[in-house]
Amino acid sequence: MARILVVGCGFAGAVYARTLAEHGFDVHCIDQRPHIAGNAYDYVDENGVRVHKYGPHLFHTNNEKVFRWMTRFGAFVDYKHKVACRIEGGKLVPFPINRDTISQFFDAPLSDEASLEAFMARQRRDIAEPANAAEMLESKVGTTLTDTFFRRYTKKMWDMDLEDIHASVVQRVSVRFDRQDLYFPNDAIQVLPRDGYTALFGNILDHDRIRIELGVAFDKRMEKDYVFCFNSMAIDEYYDHAYGDLPYRSIRFHTEHRNTSDCDHWPVVNYTDMSPFTRETRWHNLPGHHVTPGPKVTVTVEEPCDYRDNNLERYYPVRTNDNKYGPLYERYAERAAADGGRLKFIGRCGTYQYLDMHQVINQSLSGVQKWLQTQKAA
Ligand SMILES: Cc1cc2nc3c(=O)[nH]c(=O)nc-3n(C[C@H](O)[C@H](O)[C@H](O)COP(=O)(O)OP(=O)(O)OC[C@H]3O[C@@H](n4cnc5c(N)ncnc54)[C@H](O)[C@@H]3O)c2cc1C
Repeated sequence: MARILVVGCGFAGAVYARTLAEHGFDVHCIDQRPHIAGNAYDYVDENGVRVHKYGPHLFHTNNEKVFRWMTRFGAFVDYKHKVACRIEGGKLVPFPINRDTISQFFDAPLSDEASLEAFMARQRRDIAEPANAAEMLESKVGTTLTDTFFRRYTKKMWDMDLEDIHASVVQRVSVRFDRQDLYFPNDAIQVLPRDGYTALFGNILDHDRIRIELGVAFDKRMEKDYVFCFNSMAIDEYYDHAYGDLPYRSIRFHTEHRNTSDCDHWPVVNYTDMSPFTRETRWHNLPGHHVTPGPKVTVTVEEPCDYRDNNLERYYPVRTNDNKYGPLYERYAERAAADGGRLKFIGRCGTYQYLDMHQVINQSLSGVQKWLQTQKAA
């Protein structure tokens, strides 16, 4: 049967590889990293703690089709994510902002929604037509909360001031008037793979027609040996940056070992301070992650940076207020479409968009079906 090359063993590559193999194609999957699972890769470290090497990956969706597909390859445990923010003085308050956040932050007894509404009315700035994200946030939560919970975090994460970000980006930010403290309150399915993402990917890629080669970087000369290539590498890199670079934000991950007894129950704590770090993950507080409990636990602290300062690790496509990289990506996409007879770019870096896992799986499931239809028609 026809041979297909899949570049990248992340969710995009894995969904394509598995589906193609199930339709009788021989699939060769390569990844330049020494492991499968892409950015979702996890492992159990010397403290007996499961660590996600590229930052915490919380699976949340309303897409039942995607979840049904995943459950073919492993068991899942329920986990509803919660985040705290560390404010001045070291106090941890729930985030996104709810009644408890405001009450604890301002040390104000706000026992019901009416008292919070009256309090917030005094905080908010009256701005009829917010011109940017700073004004939008100030009109919703006031200057003090904007500065504490959004301004510094945004600067660290994106190296951008709120004044330089479009108002629509934060349009949906709001204060919860109740005590609901879920990070993804609107998603019906919130789970983690019981045995970790790497084991899940091991099962997805476990098929007689799939051959995996790790530590192998894509080279254009490979293409001639295959009838088609699905490629999840950065699209600008494939074309040797012919029209310019598509930039990304990246993250340097710093590992700390702490005494188990020093930790509270929060899995993720955002920092609101002036340090270059944005958040820490205490892995043992996620279900199934304290695999072999011992005296020490592992905490990962994140420091955002430009991808050129982190070994070209591409994490978050950069979106600017004036969308200056949109047209640049389109030029690459048009060139790829012209090359489309034997090549398709897939996934986060192939399509230059930030996508959560469920979105990548969904796009890949429909993308591969469309391609299979074209094969039947041909
Ligand atoms: C810090 C962080 C936290 C995240 N948290 C969440 C979360 O909580 N929930 C959620 O749903 N999503 C989260 N995501 C998003 C999630 O990581 C992506 O949705 C998912 O990884 C996309 O899969 P992918 O296959 O497109 O890309 P990747 O997982 O990046 O896989 C692409 C693979 O291609 C390989 N590759 C690239 N170039 C080449 C080349 N030239 N040759 C060979 N191989 C190559 C790479 O090594 C990589 O393994 C997070 C992302 C980051 C960065």
